[in-house]
Amino acid sequence: MKQVLFASSLIVLSLLGAARFAPGADPTHPDQPIVAPADALSRLKEGNARFTAGDPQHPHESADERKRMATDSYENAGTISLGMTSEQAAKRRAELAKSQHPFAIILSCSDSRVPPEIVFDEGLGDLFIVRVAGNVVNDEGLGSIEYGVDVLGARLIVVLGHQSCGAVDAAMKTIAAKGKAPGHIQSLVTAIKPVVDSTPKGDLDTMIKANVKHVVDALRSSTPILKARVDSGDVQVIGGYYALDTGTVTFLEGK
Ligand SMILES: [Zn+2]
Repeated sequence: MKQVLFASSLIVLSLLGAARFAPGADPTHPDQPIVAPADALSRLKEGNARFTAGDPQHPHESADERKRMATDSYENAGTISLGMTSEQAAKRRAELAKSQHPFAIILSCSDSRVPPEIVFDEGLGDLFIVRVAGNVVNDEGLGSIEYGVDVLGARLIVVLGHQSCGAVDAAMKTIAAKGKAPGHIQSLVTAIKPVVDSTPKGDLDTMIKANVKHVVDALRSSTPILKARVDSGDVQVIGGYYALDTGTVTFLEGK
């Protein structure tokens, strides 16, 4: 009986512990504190600069993987910096197996040309990512973002649109033709329609940036979790635009 009680107390304690320390303050990882929004943004800018300069570091990936990329990929041949030993990579994986502390959340398009870890030159455990065509936000995406903030401790949310976004293009054309997109693709058109309806007629780029701003505003005003955190300055939501031509991410700063 005593043992059962003791075991129950342990379970209760560990549950309390899990709840108490969930918001990013994992006492077993004091070396990985919460990254403030401005610092997270600087880190993304630095990573994108490495990417556009053709000098990616692929942080937190295994040395074996980077060696493979260096030899097998003509794109990366000669540009890979092998800074992490296989022992360090194994240590990083072991740390991540216990817990994760991504420093930023990215809501980006599914487009194969805009993979966040690559364009920001980040690695395992760095970014918490929601990807959906047209970088629209639905309930599941919002729930994921809230989890990234509330449980994992990320403090920067980036909504990343991109040049030549097919989802925004399809929405503009479908709405202009008063048509309906096939199958569930229509759900993307429906999600982007308020932006098309409220944006003065313009080119695709204008609409892509308007769509990013619309989603940024939606996240900033989302209750009950995000709005309070944004209003207090604890969390920042910012838009970004990825240029396919140059690889550059331009942040659409300001309110
Ligand atoms: Zn897209």
